[in-house]
Amino acid sequence: METEPILDEMTLDPERPEEFRALAHRMVDDMLDYLGSVRERPLWRPVPEGVKKTFQEPIPRKPRPEEEVYGEFLEKVLPYPMGNIHPRFWGWVIGTGTPLGVMAEMLAAAMNPNTGGGDHAANYVERQVLDWLKEVMGFPLSASGLLTSGGSMANVIGLTTARNRMAEFDIRVEGLPAAPRRMVMYASLETHSSNIKSAELLGIGREGLRLIPVNDAYEIDIAALEAAITADRAAGFYPYCLIGNAGTVNTGAFDNMDALADVAAREKMWLHVDGAFGACAALSETYRPLTSGMERADSLAFDLHKWFVVPYEAGCVLIRDEEDHRHAFSLTPEYLSHSTRGIHSGPSWFSDYGLELSRGFKALKAWMSFKAHGFDAYTALFEQNIAQARYLAELVEEHPRLEVMAPVPLNITCFRYNPGGLDTEALNDLNNEILLRLHESGIAAPSSTILNGQYVLRAAITNHRSRREDFELVAETVVDFGDALMKM
Ligand SMILES: *Cc1c(COP(=O)(O)O)cnc(C)c1O
Repeated sequence: METEPILDEMTLDPERPEEFRALAHRMVDDMLDYLGSVRERPLWRPVPEGVKKTFQEPIPRKPRPEEEVYGEFLEKVLPYPMGNIHPRFWGWVIGTGTPLGVMAEMLAAAMNPNTGGGDHAANYVERQVLDWLKEVMGFPLSASGLLTSGGSMANVIGLTTARNRMAEFDIRVEGLPAAPRRMVMYASLETHSSNIKSAELLGIGREGLRLIPVNDAYEIDIAALEAAITADRAAGFYPYCLIGNAGTVNTGAFDNMDALADVAAREKMWLHVDGAFGACAALSETYRPLTSGMERADSLAFDLHKWFVVPYEAGCVLIRDEEDHRHAFSLTPEYLSHSTRGIHSGPSWFSDYGLELSRGFKALKAWMSFKAHGFDAYTALFEQNIAQARYLAELVEEHPRLEVMAPVPLNITCFRYNPGGLDTEALNDLNNEILLRLHESGIAAPSSTILNGQYVLRAAITNHRSRREDFELVAETVVDFGDALMKM
């Protein structure tokens, strides 16, 4: 059978390049305007029902002009943001991004390399970013590392390396059922849920991750940890890994990582540190003492999209021993064989150090930002945010109807409105309502947590756009909302 000759191949490149260029320029201008005016807009507003419905329209089969689709983005997507680029967003632990980061994402997407491996510039950029991060975090240059989608994946990779390295058998071949004794690890009750998910995923299970009590400062109780290890050994279990928290998600507390490193050394255990945002304190001479001992960890996880404010997504894991890291993940079938020449050469392949084969060019936004702003700017930003958390705590302390609910070791302030005379349940409900009104008014976005049964408003400040006046406004507004609710 004869096939039709191909006369006019299709492509997805623009049909009318000049029009597309004009549209692209408009997009850049629009986004820079959008970023420049963020302070003037409400932080958040709900997506209207009518707009939500439009996301159920049928699958688009026929083409439409890019300009029209962009118009839809402007109308239906852009006006309803999460709010995290706003100066008064301090919910959970969320980064703001930067204009340079936005543009770097475009450049990375234009090159669109796959950084799983190969000899091309993107992989050298990532190597350099990792080397800088090793240095600022106090890790040796001989350490290994990987940029990840975030702190969760960084924790999974660190904890997988720990499990595979510490297993008393070939866990990659035989699997966990071959374990001669139950493997157990330890973290404090304040540890992040991603570490618990990691324990589940790794087959250690929630019961295999002992959650140790904390002291009044929300730091792991070392004596309780040591007692748990002793009890587990006596029961015939295998304590193999400690997880230290450098900045807990609730209050920003730092475990005593020197003590943890001592325990790990004595007990021949792996020390993994989750420093998602708190590891950043290592850059500041003033706050570095909080992280003391972190540099002794076998693995360290932290985020770039939180306090380092590169756009989502980017996290990082550092592993002290490159061999441990590679042995945990390297698996190279023939169709991925590396060579000494050509595109498939290059030093080591990042796909040998993590779960993902295909990987995007996350390193560029970090590399350009670090170069343009300089690491000193980040140090100053971290210190500024910590000072702001303390300033907010002062404003709270000064007001008779506000109270600070936890120590403020870093950049997180937990507080609540308390007019007096209410029981815990009423106070919890009242503060929950205040939080919802803060969000719904679009004024500010702290989030909440529960500390010792008390519902608290929680401002985690990783925002390079916040100013002192923003904290004054939120303290005043909480009081106004609280007073108004008390009158109802
Ligand atoms: C945010 C956070 C994580 C998880 O990081 P993601 O980037 O959200 O995946 C882990 N640990 C702590 C302490 C965190 O604050």
